[in-house]
Amino acid sequence: MDNGVRFNIPHCTGKETDYLQEAVATGKISGNGMFTKKCQAILEKITKTPKVLLTTSCTDALEMCAILMEIQEGDEVIMPSFTFVSTANAFILRGANIVFVDSRADHPGMDEDKVEDVITEKTKAIVAVHYAGVACNMEKLRSIADRHSIFLVEDAAQAIESEFKWSDGRESVLGSIGELGTLSFHETKNIQCGEGGALLINKPEFEKRAEIIWEKGTNRTAFWRGEVDKYGWVDIGSSFLPSELNAAFLYAQLENVVAIQKRRLEIWEQYYTGFQPLFETKKVRAPFIPNYAANNAHMFYLVCVSEEERTNLIAHLKSVDIHAVFHYQSLHASPYFKNKHDGRPLPWSDTYSKCLVRLPLHLHLGTEDVARVITSIRAFYSKKR
Ligand SMILES: *Cc1c(COP(=O)(O)O)cnc(C)c1O
Repeated sequence: MDNGVRFNIPHCTGKETDYLQEAVATGKISGNGMFTKKCQAILEKITKTPKVLLTTSCTDALEMCAILMEIQEGDEVIMPSFTFVSTANAFILRGANIVFVDSRADHPGMDEDKVEDVITEKTKAIVAVHYAGVACNMEKLRSIADRHSIFLVEDAAQAIESEFKWSDGRESVLGSIGELGTLSFHETKNIQCGEGGALLINKPEFEKRAEIIWEKGTNRTAFWRGEVDKYGWVDIGSSFLPSELNAAFLYAQLENVVAIQKRRLEIWEQYYTGFQPLFETKKVRAPFIPNYAANNAHMFYLVCVSEEERTNLIAHLKSVDIHAVFHYQSLHASPYFKNKHDGRPLPWSDTYSKCLVRLPLHLHLGTEDVARVITSIRAFYSKKR
Protein backbone atom coordinates (compact mmCIF):
# COMPACT_ATOMS: atom_id res chain seq x y z
CA MET A 1 0.00 0.00 0.00
CA ASP A 2 1.24 3.46 -0.90
CA ASN A 3 0.94 5.82 2.05
CA GLY A 4 3.08 8.49 0.48
CA VAL A 5 2.01 11.86 -0.84
CA ARG A 6 3.00 11.97 -4.49
CA PHE A 7 3.95 15.18 -6.24
CA ASN A 8 1.45 14.71 -9.05
CA ILE A 9 -1.22 12.21 -10.01
CA PRO A 10 -3.07 13.10 -13.23
CA HIS A 11 -6.76 13.56 -12.45
CA CYS A 12 -9.49 11.94 -14.54
CA THR A 13 -13.08 13.14 -14.38
CA GLY A 14 -14.56 9.75 -15.30
CA LYS A 15 -15.86 10.71 -18.73
CA GLU A 16 -12.53 10.37 -20.55
CA THR A 17 -12.96 6.72 -21.54
CA ASP A 18 -16.59 7.27 -22.64
CA TYR A 19 -15.49 10.01 -25.00
CA LEU A 20 -12.57 7.93 -26.24
CA GLN A 21 -15.02 5.16 -27.15
CA GLU A 22 -17.26 7.69 -28.80
CA ALA A 23 -14.35 8.99 -30.86
CA VAL A 24 -13.42 5.47 -31.94
CA ALA A 25 -17.05 4.79 -32.90
CA THR A 26 -17.10 7.77 -35.27
CA GLY A 27 -14.56 5.98 -37.44
CA LYS A 28 -12.42 9.11 -37.70
CA ILE A 29 -9.70 9.49 -35.12
CA SER A 30 -7.18 11.65 -36.99
CA GLY A 31 -7.15 15.36 -36.18
CA ASN A 32 -9.64 18.21 -36.60
CA GLY A 33 -12.75 16.12 -36.00
CA MET A 34 -15.75 16.56 -33.74
CA PHE A 35 -13.91 16.51 -30.40
CA THR A 36 -11.20 18.87 -31.63
CA LYS A 37 -13.90 21.35 -32.65
CA LYS A 38 -15.73 20.95 -29.32
CA CYS A 39 -12.52 21.56 -27.36
CA GLN A 40 -11.64 24.57 -29.46
CA ALA A 41 -15.11 26.03 -28.93
CA ILE A 42 -14.87 25.64 -25.13
CA LEU A 43 -11.38 27.13 -25.12
CA GLU A 44 -12.50 30.10 -27.22
CA LYS A 45 -15.18 30.72 -24.61
CA ILE A 46 -12.92 30.26 -21.57
CA THR A 47 -10.11 32.40 -22.95
CA LYS A 48 -12.29 34.93 -24.79
CA THR A 49 -10.01 34.42 -27.77
CA PRO A 50 -11.44 34.67 -31.29
CA LYS A 51 -9.62 31.60 -32.60
CA VAL A 52 -8.06 28.59 -30.87
CA LEU A 53 -6.29 25.64 -32.50
CA LEU A 54 -5.58 22.50 -30.48
CA THR A 55 -1.98 21.33 -30.77
CA THR A 56 -0.09 18.22 -29.74
CA SER A 57 1.70 20.23 -27.03
CA CYS A 58 2.38 23.75 -25.81
CA THR A 59 5.84 23.25 -27.29
CA ASP A 60 4.23 22.84 -30.72
CA ALA A 61 2.03 25.88 -30.18
CA LEU A 62 5.17 27.91 -29.40
CA GLU A 63 6.83 26.60 -32.57
CA MET A 64 3.77 27.74 -34.50
CA CYS A 65 4.17 31.21 -32.93
CA ALA A 66 7.75 31.40 -34.19
CA ILE A 67 6.69 30.45 -37.73
CA LEU A 68 3.71 32.84 -37.72
CA MET A 69 5.86 35.78 -36.61
CA GLU A 70 8.38 34.84 -39.34
CA ILE A 71 11.26 34.66 -36.91
CA GLN A 72 14.50 34.48 -38.88
CA GLU A 73 18.18 33.89 -38.31
CA GLY A 74 19.55 36.67 -36.10
CA ASP A 75 16.22 38.00 -34.81
CA GLU A 76 16.17 38.60 -31.07
CA VAL A 77 13.46 37.25 -28.78
CA ILE A 78 13.20 38.38 -25.14
CA MET A 79 12.01 36.00 -22.41
CA PRO A 80 12.73 35.01 -18.79
CA SER A 81 15.63 32.67 -18.05
CA PHE A 82 13.53 30.97 -15.38
CA THR A 83 11.23 29.04 -17.72
CA PHE A 84 10.82 25.71 -19.45
CA VAL A 85 13.19 24.90 -22.34
CA SER A 86 10.35 24.92 -24.89
CA THR A 87 9.80 28.66 -24.46
CA ALA A 88 13.29 29.18 -25.88
CA ASN A 89 13.67 26.14 -28.14
CA ALA A 90 10.74 27.13 -30.34
CA PHE A 91 12.57 30.29 -31.39
CA ILE A 92 16.06 28.75 -31.45
CA LEU A 93 14.74 26.32 -34.07
CA ARG A 94 14.05 29.31 -36.38
CA GLY A 95 17.57 30.72 -35.80
CA ALA A 96 16.66 33.39 -33.24
CA ASN A 97 19.00 34.73 -30.58
CA ILE A 98 17.41 34.49 -27.18
CA VAL A 99 17.88 37.41 -24.81
CA PHE A 100 17.12 36.28 -21.28
CA VAL A 101 15.77 38.62 -18.62
CA ASP A 102 16.01 38.13 -14.87
CA SER A 103 13.11 37.17 -12.61
CA ARG A 104 11.49 39.64 -10.24
CA ALA A 105 12.70 39.88 -6.65
CA ASP A 106 9.18 39.17 -5.40
CA HIS A 107 8.14 36.58 -7.99
CA PRO A 108 9.81 34.05 -10.33
CA GLY A 109 8.18 35.76 -13.34
CA MET A 110 10.18 38.02 -15.67
CA ASP A 111 11.10 41.46 -14.32
CA GLU A 112 9.03 43.67 -16.63
CA ASP A 113 11.18 46.71 -15.77
CA LYS A 114 14.28 45.05 -17.23
CA VAL A 115 12.74 44.29 -20.62
CA GLU A 116 13.13 47.66 -22.29
CA ASP A 117 16.88 47.75 -21.50
CA VAL A 118 17.54 44.79 -23.80
CA ILE A 119 15.43 45.84 -26.78
CA THR A 120 17.49 46.46 -29.92
CA GLU A 121 16.73 46.97 -33.62
CA LYS A 122 16.79 43.19 -33.98
CA THR A 123 14.18 42.50 -31.31
CA LYS A 124 11.19 40.79 -32.84
CA ALA A 125 9.18 39.60 -29.87
CA ILE A 126 8.75 39.45 -26.10
CA VAL A 127 7.57 36.17 -24.63
CA ALA A 128 5.77 36.60 -21.31
CA VAL A 129 5.66 33.43 -19.19
CA HIS A 130 2.93 33.44 -16.53
CA TYR A 131 4.80 31.42 -13.91
CA ALA A 132 2.53 29.39 -11.62
CA GLY A 133 -0.43 30.81 -13.54
CA VAL A 134 0.26 34.24 -12.03
CA ALA A 135 0.08 37.02 -14.58
CA CYS A 136 3.06 39.09 -15.63
CA ASN A 137 2.32 42.79 -15.57
CA MET A 138 0.75 42.74 -19.02
CA GLU A 139 -0.02 46.46 -18.99
CA LYS A 140 3.71 47.18 -18.86
CA LEU A 141 4.63 44.51 -21.40
CA ARG A 142 1.81 45.41 -23.81
CA SER A 143 2.86 49.04 -23.77
CA ILE A 144 6.56 48.20 -24.32
CA ALA A 145 5.69 45.90 -27.24
CA ASP A 146 3.40 48.52 -28.81
CA ARG A 147 5.91 51.32 -28.35
CA HIS A 148 8.59 49.31 -30.15
CA SER A 149 6.25 47.65 -32.67
CA ILE A 150 7.25 44.15 -31.66
CA PHE A 151 5.15 41.09 -30.98
CA LEU A 152 3.99 40.01 -27.54
CA VAL A 153 3.50 36.27 -27.05
CA GLU A 154 2.10 34.71 -23.88
CA ASP A 155 3.42 31.34 -22.79
CA ALA A 156 0.32 30.64 -20.72
CA ALA A 157 1.17 26.92 -20.38
CA GLN A 158 0.40 27.04 -16.65
CA ALA A 159 -2.20 29.77 -16.76
CA ILE A 160 -5.53 28.31 -17.88
CA GLU A 161 -8.46 30.33 -16.49
CA SER A 162 -6.16 32.89 -14.90
CA GLU A 163 -6.57 36.61 -15.42
CA PHE A 164 -4.87 39.98 -15.56
CA LYS A 165 -6.56 43.09 -14.23
CA TRP A 166 -5.80 46.36 -16.04
CA SER A 167 -5.49 49.59 -14.08
CA ASP A 168 -8.87 50.74 -15.44
CA GLY A 169 -10.50 47.66 -13.86
CA ARG A 170 -10.98 45.60 -17.03
CA GLU A 171 -9.99 41.94 -16.81
CA SER A 172 -8.39 39.83 -19.54
CA VAL A 173 -7.92 36.08 -19.54
CA LEU A 174 -4.25 35.12 -19.82
CA GLY A 175 -3.32 34.10 -23.33
CA SER A 176 -5.68 36.67 -24.85
CA ILE A 177 -3.50 39.76 -24.45
CA GLY A 178 -0.53 39.02 -26.69
CA GLU A 179 -0.92 38.64 -30.46
CA LEU A 180 -0.51 34.93 -29.71
CA GLY A 181 -0.85 32.79 -26.60
CA THR A 182 -0.17 29.14 -25.81
CA LEU A 183 -1.64 26.65 -23.32
CA SER A 184 -0.38 23.24 -22.19
CA PHE A 185 -2.40 20.15 -21.37
CA HIS A 186 0.59 18.11 -20.23
CA GLU A 187 -0.33 15.74 -17.39
CA THR A 188 1.24 18.08 -14.84
CA LYS A 189 -1.07 20.97 -15.75
CA ASN A 190 -4.50 21.82 -14.26
CA ILE A 191 -6.37 20.49 -17.31
CA GLN A 192 -4.62 17.64 -19.07
CA CYS A 193 -4.71 14.95 -21.73
CA GLY A 194 -1.26 13.43 -21.19
CA GLU A 195 0.37 15.55 -23.88
CA GLY A 196 -1.50 18.41 -25.49
CA GLY A 197 -1.67 22.14 -26.02
CA ALA A 198 -3.42 24.99 -27.76
CA LEU A 199 -2.56 28.07 -29.78
CA LEU A 200 -4.60 31.18 -29.03
CA ILE A 201 -4.76 33.55 -31.98
CA ASN A 202 -5.69 37.10 -31.03
CA LYS A 203 -4.56 38.77 -34.24
CA PRO A 204 -7.07 37.84 -36.97
CA GLU A 205 -4.45 38.29 -39.71
CA PHE A 206 -2.73 35.17 -38.37
CA GLU A 207 -5.76 32.88 -38.53
CA LYS A 208 -5.60 31.63 -42.11
CA ARG A 209 -1.88 31.01 -42.09
CA ALA A 210 -2.06 29.32 -38.68
CA GLU A 211 -4.51 26.74 -40.04
CA ILE A 212 -2.14 26.03 -42.92
CA ILE A 213 0.97 25.68 -40.72
CA TRP A 214 -1.09 23.41 -38.44
CA GLU A 215 -1.95 21.09 -41.35
CA LYS A 216 1.59 20.43 -42.67
CA GLY A 217 1.63 23.55 -44.84
CA THR A 218 -1.50 22.58 -46.76
CA ASN A 219 -4.87 24.30 -47.10
CA ARG A 220 -6.71 21.15 -46.02
CA THR A 221 -8.74 22.99 -43.34
CA ALA A 222 -10.12 25.41 -45.95
CA PHE A 223 -10.80 22.40 -48.21
CA TRP A 224 -12.89 20.70 -45.47
CA ARG A 225 -14.92 23.89 -45.17
CA GLY A 226 -15.50 23.80 -48.92
CA GLU A 227 -13.60 27.04 -49.55
CA VAL A 228 -11.21 25.50 -52.10
CA ASP A 229 -11.93 22.58 -54.44
CA LYS A 230 -8.65 20.74 -53.83
CA TYR A 231 -5.96 21.03 -51.25
CA GLY A 232 -2.25 21.32 -51.76
CA TRP A 233 1.07 22.51 -50.43
CA VAL A 234 0.89 26.28 -49.96
CA ASP A 235 3.35 27.16 -47.16
CA ILE A 236 5.74 25.64 -44.62
CA GLY A 237 4.18 23.74 -41.75
CA SER A 238 4.20 20.59 -39.72
CA SER A 239 1.84 18.12 -38.10
CA PHE A 240 0.82 20.29 -35.18
CA LEU A 241 -2.73 18.98 -34.76
CA PRO A 242 -3.55 16.28 -32.21
CA SER A 243 -5.56 13.14 -32.90
CA GLU A 244 -9.21 12.94 -31.95
CA LEU A 245 -8.21 10.54 -29.16
CA ASN A 246 -6.34 13.31 -27.35
CA ALA A 247 -9.17 15.75 -28.03
CA ALA A 248 -11.82 13.32 -26.71
CA PHE A 249 -9.88 12.89 -23.46
CA LEU A 250 -9.33 16.63 -23.17
CA TYR A 251 -13.02 17.37 -23.72
CA ALA A 252 -13.92 15.45 -20.54
CA GLN A 253 -11.48 17.65 -18.64
CA LEU A 254 -12.61 20.93 -20.16
CA GLU A 255 -16.23 20.16 -19.28
CA ASN A 256 -15.09 19.96 -15.64
CA VAL A 257 -12.83 22.95 -15.54
CA VAL A 258 -14.88 24.79 -12.89
CA ALA A 259 -14.88 21.89 -10.40
CA ILE A 260 -11.19 21.15 -11.00
CA GLN A 261 -10.12 24.76 -10.43
CA LYS A 262 -12.30 25.04 -7.33
CA ARG A 263 -10.68 22.04 -5.65
CA ARG A 264 -7.17 23.15 -6.61
CA LEU A 265 -7.81 26.55 -5.07
CA GLU A 266 -9.02 24.94 -1.82
CA ILE A 267 -5.76 23.00 -1.59
CA TRP A 268 -3.75 26.12 -2.36
CA GLU A 269 -5.57 28.08 0.36
CA GLN A 270 -5.09 25.26 2.87
CA TYR A 271 -1.34 25.37 2.26
CA TYR A 272 -1.20 29.16 2.42
CA THR A 273 -3.10 29.30 5.71
CA GLY A 274 -1.14 26.40 7.18
CA PHE A 275 2.21 28.06 6.47
CA GLN A 276 1.28 31.49 7.90
CA PRO A 277 3.48 31.05 11.01
CA LEU A 278 6.48 30.27 8.79
CA PHE A 279 5.77 33.25 6.54
CA GLU A 280 5.36 35.60 9.51
CA THR A 281 8.69 34.57 11.02
CA LYS A 282 10.32 34.74 7.55
CA LYS A 283 11.60 31.17 7.78
CA VAL A 284 10.45 30.62 4.24
CA ARG A 285 9.03 32.92 1.58
CA ALA A 286 5.37 32.69 0.48
CA PRO A 287 4.20 32.65 -3.12
CA PHE A 288 3.34 36.22 -4.15
CA ILE A 289 0.29 37.19 -6.14
CA PRO A 290 0.26 40.84 -7.24
CA ASN A 291 -3.13 42.56 -6.99
CA TYR A 292 -3.43 42.70 -10.79
CA ALA A 293 -3.12 38.89 -11.00
CA ALA A 294 -5.62 36.11 -10.34
CA ASN A 295 -4.66 32.75 -8.84
CA ASN A 296 -5.53 29.61 -10.83
CA ALA A 297 -3.82 27.39 -8.24
CA HIS A 298 -1.53 25.81 -10.79
CA MET A 299 1.26 25.50 -8.27
CA PHE A 300 2.08 25.88 -4.62
CA TYR A 301 5.72 26.75 -4.09
CA LEU A 302 7.90 28.02 -1.25
CA VAL A 303 11.21 29.86 -1.53
CA CYS A 304 13.84 28.64 0.94
CA VAL A 305 16.62 30.89 2.23
CA SER A 306 19.38 28.79 0.64
CA GLU A 307 19.98 25.87 -1.69
CA GLU A 308 21.26 23.83 1.23
CA GLU A 309 18.08 24.40 3.18
CA ARG A 310 15.99 23.39 0.17
CA THR A 311 18.01 20.19 -0.25
CA ASN A 312 17.47 19.38 3.43
CA LEU A 313 13.77 20.18 3.26
CA ILE A 314 13.21 17.94 0.21
CA ALA A 315 15.19 15.15 1.92
CA HIS A 316 13.20 15.58 5.15
CA LEU A 317 9.93 15.33 3.21
CA LYS A 318 11.20 12.30 1.35
CA SER A 319 12.00 10.62 4.68
CA VAL A 320 8.31 10.92 5.60
CA ASP A 321 7.19 9.79 2.15
CA ILE A 322 6.20 13.18 0.76
CA HIS A 323 7.38 13.99 -2.72
CA ALA A 324 8.34 17.66 -3.22
CA VAL A 325 10.46 18.87 -6.15
CA PHE A 326 12.49 21.84 -7.32
CA HIS A 327 11.85 23.50 -10.67
CA TYR A 328 13.61 25.20 -13.59
CA GLN A 329 17.34 25.66 -13.75
CA SER A 330 18.18 29.07 -15.29
CA LEU A 331 18.32 28.62 -19.07
CA HIS A 332 21.05 31.26 -19.49
CA ALA A 333 23.36 29.00 -17.45
CA SER A 334 22.32 25.72 -19.09
CA PRO A 335 24.87 23.46 -20.81
CA TYR A 336 23.31 24.30 -24.20
CA PHE A 337 23.09 28.06 -23.77
CA LYS A 338 25.81 29.22 -21.37
CA ASN A 339 28.29 30.03 -24.14
CA LYS A 340 25.63 31.93 -26.08
CA HIS A 341 24.55 34.12 -23.16
CA ASP A 342 25.73 37.74 -23.22
CA GLY A 343 27.12 37.50 -19.70
CA ARG A 344 24.59 39.64 -17.83
CA PRO A 345 24.16 38.15 -14.36
CA LEU A 346 20.57 37.09 -13.65
CA PRO A 347 20.72 36.61 -9.88
CA TRP A 348 17.00 36.23 -9.15
CA SER A 349 16.61 33.55 -11.77
CA ASP A 350 19.51 31.71 -10.12
CA THR A 351 17.94 32.20 -6.68
CA TYR A 352 14.68 30.54 -7.76
CA SER A 353 16.67 27.76 -9.46
CA LYS A 354 18.39 27.05 -6.16
CA CYS A 355 15.76 27.83 -3.54
CA LEU A 356 12.25 27.23 -4.91
CA VAL A 357 10.43 24.05 -3.91
CA ARG A 358 7.07 22.88 -5.29
CA LEU A 359 4.63 20.94 -3.13
CA PRO A 360 2.14 18.27 -4.19
CA LEU A 361 -1.02 19.84 -5.66
CA HIS A 362 -3.49 17.55 -7.40
CA LEU A 363 -7.03 16.25 -7.05
CA HIS A 364 -6.02 12.98 -5.43
CA LEU A 365 -5.00 14.90 -2.30
CA GLY A 366 -7.42 14.94 0.59
CA THR A 367 -7.52 17.59 3.31
CA GLU A 368 -5.58 15.24 5.59
CA ASP A 369 -2.82 14.75 2.99
CA VAL A 370 -2.34 18.50 2.69
CA ALA A 371 -2.38 18.79 6.49
CA ARG A 372 0.33 16.13 6.64
CA VAL A 373 2.55 18.11 4.25
CA ILE A 374 2.00 21.28 6.30
CA THR A 375 2.78 19.54 9.59
CA SER A 376 5.93 17.94 8.18
CA ILE A 377 7.27 21.24 6.87
CA ARG A 378 6.46 23.08 10.08
CA ALA A 379 8.22 20.32 12.03
CA PHE A 380 11.29 20.72 9.80
CA TYR A 381 11.48 24.42 10.56
CA SER A 382 10.79 24.14 14.29
CA LYS A 383 13.57 21.57 14.64
CA LYS A 384 15.98 23.80 12.77
CA ARG A 385 15.92 26.90 14.97
C1 LIG B 1 4.60 22.86 -19.40
C2 LIG B 1 5.21 24.08 -20.00
C3 LIG B 1 5.58 24.14 -21.36
C4 LIG B 1 5.54 22.94 -22.26
O1 LIG B 1 4.30 22.39 -22.42
P1 LIG B 1 4.17 21.01 -23.23
O2 LIG B 1 2.69 20.93 -23.45
O3 LIG B 1 4.71 19.94 -22.36
O4 LIG B 1 4.92 21.15 -24.50
C5 LIG B 1 6.06 25.33 -21.86
N1 LIG B 1 6.20 26.42 -21.09
C6 LIG B 1 5.88 26.40 -19.78
C7 LIG B 1 6.04 27.66 -18.97
C8 LIG B 1 5.39 25.23 -19.19
O5 LIG B 1 5.09 25.22 -17.88
